[in-house]
Amino acid sequence: MHLARTGTSKNRLHVPTATLLGRSNACGTRLNFLVGLVAVALFSYSAEASGTASTLSLYQGEVIPFRLSPPPGTSSVAGQFLSQSLAFFKETTEPQSQYMALLGADLAQSVGKHPLSATFRGEEGRLHQLEYVIEILPTLFTTQQLTLPTDKADPNREDLVRIEKERMQFQAVFSKGTSEILWQPPFLAPVEGVVSKTFGKKRVINGTERKPHTGEDIAASLGTPVMASNHGRVVLAGDFFFNGQSVVIDHGGDLFTMYFHLSEVKTREGMFVKRGEVVGLVGQSGRATGPHLHWGARLSGARVDPFSLIHATE
Ligand SMILES: [Zn+2]
Repeated sequence: MHLARTGTSKNRLHVPTATLLGRSNACGTRLNFLVGLVAVALFSYSAEASGTASTLSLYQGEVIPFRLSPPPGTSSVAGQFLSQSLAFFKETTEPQSQYMALLGADLAQSVGKHPLSATFRGEEGRLHQLEYVIEILPTLFTTQQLTLPTDKADPNREDLVRIEKERMQFQAVFSKGTSEILWQPPFLAPVEGVVSKTFGKKRVINGTERKPHTGEDIAASLGTPVMASNHGRVVLAGDFFFNGQSVVIDHGGDLFTMYFHLSEVKTREGMFVKRGEVVGLVGQSGRATGPHLHWGARLSGARVDPFSLIHATE
């Protein structure tokens, strides 16, 4: 849980009224609910106070839900955060429509205050704009020492060509996401097992500092079924140098989840999968020291903790 490193939610969230603060506790769900309340509270006087800013907070590598409750008859709810479009969907229609978008911060996102703007078209046809300030707070990522066989730790020239080609293949997939939202709350953990809690850890492999760990590892026995964490389209299924046998699912709205080091892929590129559908089996293919699933998530280009998708959508 992220909250272990954060203290109470009171420290994390600057809300405009004492009434809202009174609802806070150390629970992530409650915090996310509060974020929604703040948005709703701001909205209620937005016509008079358009441009009023309130500060919400988000940790590096975290995903939180952001909610708006515009008046009936509203259409075209949109938003921008960290130069990316927010994908809003309607959560409720009665008695008042509520829209939700997931906000994510890359594990290396610069800390500090970043603007979020949301717009909607009112019943009268006028475009309304709301401004928020999102404060990105630092997450303390510790260092993990790993020892690997030299051929996996230090790829040769031929391997480097393959690695670069594969990096571009992944980039191409991430640049062609479906804009329509295909997922539905909640996200599921793809496999039951021992979670390593190594998301974002800096990695030192055979004594040399490498790229941080951009997903979460779940240890499980060889051959354990791996489920799609939500509905989506399989946009990559293949065998890769570092990631081994892998599946990438596009959930729409610029959100992808990844499943690496499989012993077997049980789906094909282009297939639509349902949440809970088996897409592969746990293995140790690619650069892995034992059987586990590497589960990764990418939201609007941000490398985020996949477990935070579960908390943000439960
Ligand atoms: Zn991993």
